[in-house]
Amino acid sequence: MKTPLCNPDSDLDLGQCFDRAKGSIGTPEAVVLVSQILGVSFTELHTKREHSVTNSKVEELSNAIQRRLQGEPIAYITGSKSFRNLNIKVTPDVLIPRFETELLVDVVLELTRSTGRVLDLGTGSGAIAIALSSVNQMQVVAVDNDPRALEVCVENCRRLEVDVEVLRSNWFENVTGRFDTIVSNPPYVAAHDSHLLEGDLRYEPPNALVGGNEGFEQLEEIINSAMRFLNPNGWLVVEHGHDQHDAVNQLFVRRGYTQIQQRRDYTGTPRIMWGQSHGR
Ligand code: GLN
Repeated sequence: MKTPLCNPDSDLDLGQCFDRAKGSIGTPEAVVLVSQILGVSFTELHTKREHSVTNSKVEELSNAIQRRLQGEPIAYITGSKSFRNLNIKVTPDVLIPRFETELLVDVVLELTRSTGRVLDLGTGSGAIAIALSSVNQMQVVAVDNDPRALEVCVENCRRLEVDVEVLRSNWFENVTGRFDTIVSNPPYVAAHDSHLLEGDLRYEPPNALVGGNEGFEQLEEIINSAMRFLNPNGWLVVEHGHDQHDAVNQLFVRRGYTQIQQRRDYTGTPRIMWGQSHGR
């Protein structure tokens, strides 16, 4: 039986709030929502159970639980999502960063030994660009064509005090110069994929998810064009859909990349592919 916190006039303590939230949305999500909304750490959820909670906070939590029960992604309710060790601000104008996209950052760090000039295409919240720029000496340029997404990206760069150059561009349109690495998690879901009607995807911006009828339009454009923006022996690293490995591999081969490799995500599905440019 789902029992949302719905009595904002009662004087509840932290333990009662947490227990009610657990009863409504289950423990893992209650931990995230209660700790974020009441501003307590995971440990304090257990060690400060007797602490009283103001009625306005109880009401805020109650509203958040209602939104979650209606299906809204937890990251849009709290306004943030952790990505590697970073707390990234998210709004419905940007894709919610995924765990598998952390692997994209790992691959870039391994390939480049954390140096050089990097371009993040379709940056959204800026998660990839910021993660790269916060752990090393890389010079990072982040582009997106959506001004609302860019606002979120700029805000994240400011909050997290990283020096990323942010640029509005439809893929390579306004990009100049060459890069040692180009990285992208482009929209790659096929327009009629039924997953778009499920879970978090229902709430995320379609322009960050859908890569044309087959899902390959943006990947194809990026793989074809990136060669002209890479230094010789530079790397293109992309994330792709769960069933796109063979087709993406063909695109890399056809465009003349070498050293093509892949990495599987945490479910064992090929998810990341990269190749080296000849710089022409
Ligand atoms: N990984 C996301 C999903 O399938 C899609 C993200 C994207 O299109 N880049 O839920």
